[in-house]
Amino acid sequence: MAGEAQADCVFCKIVAGDIPSTKVRETEHTLAFRDINPQMPTHVLVVPKAHYPDAASLADADPGLAGTVLAEAGRVAEDEKVVDSGYRLIFNTGSGAGQTVFHAHVHVLAGGGLHEKLV
Ligand code: AMP
Ligand code: ZN
Repeated sequence: MAGEAQADCVFCKIVAGDIPSTKVRETEHTLAFRDINPQMPTHVLVVPKAHYPDAASLADADPGLAGTVLAEAGRVAEDEKVVDSGYRLIFNTGSGAGQTVFHAHVHVLAGGGLHEKLV
């Protein structure tokens, strides 16, 4: 069923507490934790606790939850004090775009190199 935890999903395991993570924020339906391989001084992942394979699937199935994930990304940026300096939200979608974990997540990136615009 859509949203159900997947046994082979690393982020479902983090949500369940079966794999440790460095949590930075938690709500009833979302979790934010530090990326294990940070690409910038601030590199936090925000995930819905429910499993959806990517951001668009999440938004299609549960637009409210997708909005909550985005709002949480903004709160992470506030907590990290990077709102004024700027931050970037990235949803890699599909292996061809670099997605390696197929549980919807947004990368919150800040603190260096963001002047190099991708688009
Ligand atoms: P993506 O390439 O967009 O699918 O992003 C997956 C991200 O998850 C990568 O940046 C990984 O470094 C990160 N990651 C993978 N396993 C863990 C973990 N156990 N704890 C924290 N971050 C992780
Ligand atoms: Zn999952």
